[in-house]
Amino acid sequence: MPHNGRRPKPGLPGSPPDVETMNFGVSKDIIEDIRNRCDIVELIGTFVQLKRSGANTYKGLCPFHQEKTPSFHVDASRQTYHCFGCGKGGDVFRFYMDRENVGFNDALHMLASRVGVVIPESSFSGTPEEGRQRAGERERLYRINAEFCDFFRRTLVSNPDSPPSLYLKKRGIPSEIAERFKIGACPDEWTACLAYGRSLGFTDAELVASGIVRRKEETGRCFDHFKGRLTFAIENEQGRVVGFSARSLEPKPLAGGKYINTPETPVFKKGNLLYALPLARRMMTERNLAILCEGQLDTIAFHRAGFECAVAPQGTGFTEGQARILRRYTNRVFLAFDADAAGQKAILRAVEILLPLSFDIRAIRIPGGKDPDELYANGGAEALAQAVDAAVPWLSILCGSLPERHDMTTPAGRGQAAEEVAGYLCSIKNQVELELYVREAAAALQVSEEAIYAELRQVNRARRRDEEFRVRREAESPGARKNVQTPPAHAPAILTLLELAVNSENAARRISELLMPDELPADDLAAQAVNLAINAALNGEFDQVAGEISSLLVKTPDPAVSRLLVETHVCRDPEKAIQDSIAELRRQRLRKQRQELTARLRVTTDAMEKIKILSELQNLK
Ligand SMILES: [Zn+2]
Repeated sequence: MPHNGRRPKPGLPGSPPDVETMNFGVSKDIIEDIRNRCDIVELIGTFVQLKRSGANTYKGLCPFHQEKTPSFHVDASRQTYHCFGCGKGGDVFRFYMDRENVGFNDALHMLASRVGVVIPESSFSGTPEEGRQRAGERERLYRINAEFCDFFRRTLVSNPDSPPSLYLKKRGIPSEIAERFKIGACPDEWTACLAYGRSLGFTDAELVASGIVRRKEETGRCFDHFKGRLTFAIENEQGRVVGFSARSLEPKPLAGGKYINTPETPVFKKGNLLYALPLARRMMTERNLAILCEGQLDTIAFHRAGFECAVAPQGTGFTEGQARILRRYTNRVFLAFDADAAGQKAILRAVEILLPLSFDIRAIRIPGGKDPDELYANGGAEALAQAVDAAVPWLSILCGSLPERHDMTTPAGRGQAAEEVAGYLCSIKNQVELELYVREAAAALQVSEEAIYAELRQVNRARRRDEEFRVRREAESPGARKNVQTPPAHAPAILTLLELAVNSENAARRISELLMPDELPADDLAAQAVNLAINAALNGEFDQVAGEISSLLVKTPDPAVSRLLVETHVCRDPEKAIQDSIAELRRQRLRKQRQELTARLRVTTDAMEKIKILSELQNLK
């Protein structure tokens, strides 16, 4: 009997919550929107070197297991991937979750900001109840930060003779810049913020949780964290204020350092924040360039000079998380760190973090050992533009610094230097890029290219050994189960139906004519996928079929299913294959029902019950 209209979605009793409820309020449309805007080849290409292997297919070395010949396949038309070696597979979300070791919610947000989709702030991970609670907490923190951003702005503007105002004047920062960058001042009193926060209806605990107010452990008294300081609002990628960096204007600050930050809170995670990112995002993409500065004032100087692609890490050193954020917008980073020894070290540290992500990295040298802020103050936009134009490739910086650590006049010293360079080069995945760097390094070190390659092989061998050791140790550890892919067994007949249904709209329609939805086992993921394909065909959304099925894989990875999404099958006699598979399914179902009835028959002592079961058994035939 043909099915008319929409079938129910396979969110069945007893099975885990379906994908829609898993998303905790993020609508399916938004998820689809993000999936459609992401290009899986581009996303995976930032982690894996992919080679075209067919009209719409790519191959590469699997990022999830060690291998020498590529068994990792990406299907551009279906936007799916599957590794024939380890069985990992799915869509952009699944890939991001596995690669970055994050949950669906994080993957959703990261990919959303990558493609410019805004998700309403009501989405979270955990149980819906926990999620709502946490979102409520986060929402309160956002509100507190937003309120105090305004409060600090008003304090600055209405006190033109206060030290913060005078300091900005001295640094030549006009009021419109202070406004654009949300620069403010905290009143020079111990409890002004506390009183203001209370007047807005926030509890002391909430104000402490936000970092605006601190509680003294000994006395339990609360006091303002940023008292008397100049404040720079720190925004997250979506442009919401999440905390502050505050500069002391005392010659010798009493508490904390020259700069203090909001402590880590649920919305202020230093390692994933970049100063001025919301202001810099657009130009980063347009110019394909990010300028990474040491602090807020340098960042502002670059913006004023027309380089509105400048950002700065928050307080501590540059992190991998921040590098990944930049990679979403650009593949070129210029480092504008101080020219002193500490700055030099910071440059090489940043290079180590940026290289594996295939960035083109240069360093901006500020003449006269000044910082970008001073250079802008003295030479204006022109001087900064010249410095950007003259930026030096990272390898020159590295090679230039080698004589400080190695005796370059002896072969042994040059050998050690070559080893150090190889330590950087070994994280470059692109072969062409690597060859160019090796040529340059060989020339700079006055050694043969072969010598550098030999060092590279050695470093790679050592790293591989470390990696194998790590993998083995993880596999032996008690918590290793989660890394092991245990493929659920599917009936071959269901896999055949799925293979036919994802490859042909007609086949999917034909299956729906011959098979009732409840004839498919409810708890089987492949069977749910067959149902999705049928739905897509009946609803005229067959072009979405791979995305629909991928949604199932986001929740539960399944090698047998993800594999079918990267292989195209042509079946010579689909009608026969469908009929045979359905017949096989029915036989299995009957066998199972018979077994269940026989088992009940064996244990029951009630005569009436026995008769009932016997007649049911008769009916099965
Ligand atoms: Zn693999």
